[in-house]
Amino acid sequence: MEQVYKNKKDCSGCTACQHICPQNAITMQADSEGFLYPVIEQKNCIDCGLCRDICPFINSESLKNGGQQNCYSCVHKDEDVLKASTSGGAFTALSDYILEIGGVVYGADFDEDFNVCHSRAETKAERDRQRVSKYAQSDLKDTFVKVKTDLQAGKTVLFTGTPCQVAGLKAYLPRHITENLYLCDLICHSIPSPLIWQEYKKWQEEKHSGGKMTRVMFRSKLHPWTRNNSNRGFSFEMNGDGILHEDNIFYDLFFKVSTIMRPSCENCKFTTQNRVSAITIADYWGIEEYSPETYTPLGVSVVLANNAKGEKLVYHMKQRADMQQRDIAEQLKHQKRLSEPVKYPSFRSEFWQDLHKNGFEYVMDKYVYKK
Ligand code: SF4
Repeated sequence: MEQVYKNKKDCSGCTACQHICPQNAITMQADSEGFLYPVIEQKNCIDCGLCRDICPFINSESLKNGGQQNCYSCVHKDEDVLKASTSGGAFTALSDYILEIGGVVYGADFDEDFNVCHSRAETKAERDRQRVSKYAQSDLKDTFVKVKTDLQAGKTVLFTGTPCQVAGLKAYLPRHITENLYLCDLICHSIPSPLIWQEYKKWQEEKHSGGKMTRVMFRSKLHPWTRNNSNRGFSFEMNGDGILHEDNIFYDLFFKVSTIMRPSCENCKFTTQNRVSAITIADYWGIEEYSPETYTPLGVSVVLANNAKGEKLVYHMKQRADMQQRDIAEQLKHQKRLSEPVKYPSFRSEFWQDLHKNGFEYVMDKYVYKK
C-alpha cells in the first residue's frame, strides 16, 4: 500500500494504523506543519489492508455509542483542585476514582521541553501533570500498545484524549479486553500544530534574553473563569523565577487567526453529540445563565455520560464533586463543537507558505498584529 490515507484531511494521526500493522511497516513522521502522519516503508508492506480497515476516520460511525446520554454540571469540592484545573476539576474527580481502585491513567503531559505527549500515571502526583488543557496535538508514541498491555494484565485503565485519539484507541483494541477500559474525551475545538507551539515558545525565550520556560499554563486561573476570559489565560514562567507572564499571541493564532490547526480538524467526524467515549468533559459555558448558584469564578465542568460506564464514573465522581443533572440543550447551544467542525479561513495555505519562507516573527506581524 502506498499510503494509509488518501488526503491529509482524512488523517488525525491517531497511530492505530501504525500499531496494527503486522509488519511494523508504519512510522509516524512530522510534515512541514509539525503534524504526525503514518508513512509506510514499502519494502516491508505485504498489502494486507489492516491499516486502512482500522482507520477511525473511515469507521467513525461504528465507533460511536448512540443511545441514552446524560449531561451534568461538575464543581470539585476541593478549592485547591479547582484552582489547579482548567474548569471544574472533572478530570481530577474522575481519575482519583481510577487511581484509588489501583488503575492507571493516560493523558496529555509535557516533556522536559514542553512538547505535549501522552504519559501513563499510577500515582496522583504523576496524574497531576496530565491535569489542565494543553493546546498542541499530543504525541501518543506507543501509548496504544501500553494500554493494551495494561488491560491484558487485568488493570483498570482510564484513557483521556481528543475524540479522534479515543476513536483510534477504541478501533485498535480487541473488544474482549476492554471491560476495564474507561474512555474519556473532550469537547475539542481543534488541535494546534506542535511546530507552531515550539516556534512560539522559542520566540518568547529569545525575547527573554535566551532564557528557558520553566512553567507553562495554557489556561491559568489568573482571571475569573468565564468564556470571555478563556483566551486570556496563557501564562508562563521563565528560569524558575516564580513570575507569571501573560500573553495572548498563541491564543490569537489559535482562535482568531485560526490557521494553525490540523487539516483533519475541519473534516472532523467526532464533533457530534453522539460520542465515542464513555464520558466527555469540557467547560460548562453558559452555567451562569442557567444556574447562577452553580457558577464559581474557579470554574465549572460539563460532564456527558455517554453510556453505562460513563454513568458508573459519574456515580463515583459525586463523592468528590458537586454534580447536577442538566439539560444537554444548554451545551448544544454553547458548544459548537457538539454539532460542527471548525472552519479554516481562506488564507490558511498562505499563512503556512509565509511561515516557511519568512519565519514566525513575520507571520505574527502579518496575521496577528495587522489583521
Ligand atoms: Fe502494514 Fe498491511 Fe498497512 Fe502494509 S497494508 S502498511 S503491511 S497494515
